[in-house]
Amino acid sequence: MTWREAAACLDRGDDLTWFPGAGQGRGRPTHPGAAEVAAKSVCKHECPVVLECAWYGLGMTEGIWGGLNRNESTRLRKALRKPTADLFEVEYEKIAKRGIFA
Ligand code: SF4
Repeated sequence: MTWREAAACLDRGDDLTWFPGAGQGRGRPTHPGAAEVAAKSVCKHECPVVLECAWYGLGMTEGIWGGLNRNESTRLRKALRKPTADLFEVEYEKIAKRGIFA
């Protein structure tokens, strides 16, 4: 099973279908409002693949991916380009747990 197949929004067929089926890039709400709030709520509370979706959506220019709108996704992408001590520590722990701490 791919992460897309586990998406909480996969079978939602209404206007709040922010997850583009089969990567078709179907338009999703990009402006804050009821639709965005509803989409983010499903991402946050129902979806088991929110991180995978956020990662995949880093380059997307519209829609809600991993509970992030375009501006939020852009901020995340920029943060990943400019390492901070906090980010370094988090990433270090992840890698070290698989290596020297294993
Ligand atoms: S995080 Fe949100 S947009 Fe992404 S797959 Fe899950 S429900 Fe869909």
